[in-house]
Amino acid sequence: MTDMTITPQPGIMEIELYQSGASKIEGVSDVVKLSSNENPHGPSKRALDVFRQSAGELHLYPSTDHASLREAIGEVQGMDPAQIVCGVGSDEIISFLCYAYAGPGDEVLYTEHGFSMYRISALAAGATPVVAPETERTTDVDKLLAAVTERTRLVFIANPNNPTGTMIDEVEVARLADGLPEGCLLVLDGAYAEFVDGFDAGKAVIDARDNVFMTRTFSKIYGLGGLRIGYGYGPQDIVDTLNRVRGPFNLSVPALKAAEAAMRDVGYTDWCRAENARMRGWMERELQAMGVALDPSQANFVLARFEDQAKAQAVDAHLKTKGLIVRMVAGYGLPNCLRITVGTEAACKRVIVAIKEVL
Ligand SMILES: *Cc1c(COP(=O)(O)O)cnc(C)c1O
Repeated sequence: MTDMTITPQPGIMEIELYQSGASKIEGVSDVVKLSSNENPHGPSKRALDVFRQSAGELHLYPSTDHASLREAIGEVQGMDPAQIVCGVGSDEIISFLCYAYAGPGDEVLYTEHGFSMYRISALAAGATPVVAPETERTTDVDKLLAAVTERTRLVFIANPNNPTGTMIDEVEVARLADGLPEGCLLVLDGAYAEFVDGFDAGKAVIDARDNVFMTRTFSKIYGLGGLRIGYGYGPQDIVDTLNRVRGPFNLSVPALKAAEAAMRDVGYTDWCRAENARMRGWMERELQAMGVALDPSQANFVLARFEDQAKAQAVDAHLKTKGLIVRMVAGYGLPNCLRITVGTEAACKRVIVAIKEVL
């Protein structure tokens, strides 16, 4: 029985459930999942070791201030640990930002092919999601600025963006930040920042301003998506605000320990970045040689663009019969595209062989 007088807050029922990348195919063994941009090599061995060791401490509550993890992040990323807040994935940081800064009557702005969590978190907070067009599947600063109103409180851009793989440079990010009105926070989603050689994820832009914040994650290059750890970095008052919204024990003991070890294993992160670039470059050349359209990807996936939706579906269906799961991105307004995570060398080769068979 349902009590019709018990109703959720406005906006909640407009949230469509998040579609995650599939991981199984009926009747096919030897399945490779290339649909969620996970690290195909897994996390640092040191992270796995401390994760296993943490089994002896499961009766203890975790730290509430995450001091040890924030210190490790600070050392490796050159950040003041006081300006870092940790969350259950960067998804939780995104939702803290929406709860803290946007409510009924406020607008949360993001780009046409932006990450689906911006809309979900905005609606959950009672705010109104607003979408600005991109140009050639790339963030367009002028179009974002044109979509800003006096009600805009948060602007999210992923840089590089998912699912397009494209990014804008520091000058453009700074121009966006400086073009926003007072009372409006720019959030740089750096989920894929570690894949870009020598990129500071927008830290210099943040450090020179008080209206820019960034989110980062351990789910992608650090290979810890299953543990759910992310963090935010930015102006002290924003961090202090998010810490009020944050649950005191939001991160578990194993998650805190594994993330710290993963962050400190810089050699492994460097290897993952180089290996991703090598295999991504190889896949891009092979796809282009087959006439598949691509934007230059800066992330750990490629967005393959076909003539039409039917072709993308045909390629996807054939890949499935070969045990290869990639991501249809029609839900992101890209019906003729497939997003393919850069896998191991063996997986990438299987993908290219299978696409050749269809085309
Ligand atoms: C994968 C991804 C994230 C990471 O989410 P987590 O909650 O940290 O796992 C954030 N933003 C974008 C754009 C992503 O693609």
